[in-house]
Amino acid sequence: MTDNLSLTSAAGNLGIFECPNCRQTIDASATQCRFCSAPIDPVAAEAAADKMARVNQACSDASYLRTAAISILVFLGIMFIPFMTLLGVFGYYFLMFAVPFLAIRWWVKFHGLGAVDPDFKRARLTVIVVSVLCAIPLLRFITSLI
Ligand SMILES: [Zn+2]
Repeated sequence: MTDNLSLTSAAGNLGIFECPNCRQTIDASATQCRFCSAPIDPVAAEAAADKMARVNQACSDASYLRTAAISILVFLGIMFIPFMTLLGVFGYYFLMFAVPFLAIRWWVKFHGLGAVDPDFKRARLTVIVVSVLCAIPLLRFITSLI
């Protein structure tokens, strides 16, 4: 029944999504909700599943970004450990440029998502905080070169 719509979407690429009726997470290939038995429109289900996959991606990318931002402080500390200075300096400057790059990439990829999902909102807040915190030392570094 759902095989008649194979225009652009790869077959078997159906994920999970929230039932519009009862908000339970269900399989997007289902024709009716297994919790509340509401009928599921396969096209809408796939669009919703696609959006949910992107929200999940946005959340995991944001937590990766947060880990990288925290690592900047770790490398900053390593700089002051004898014999580890070079590793600290290398890691610090690498992440100093990698983190803003990842933050910009996150905005480009996910800024249009506009999800009301609380996880997405938290992820977006994480990226905002990381972006602001990283912009300050990066600008100081750039201005010190000029
Ligand atoms: Zn339901």
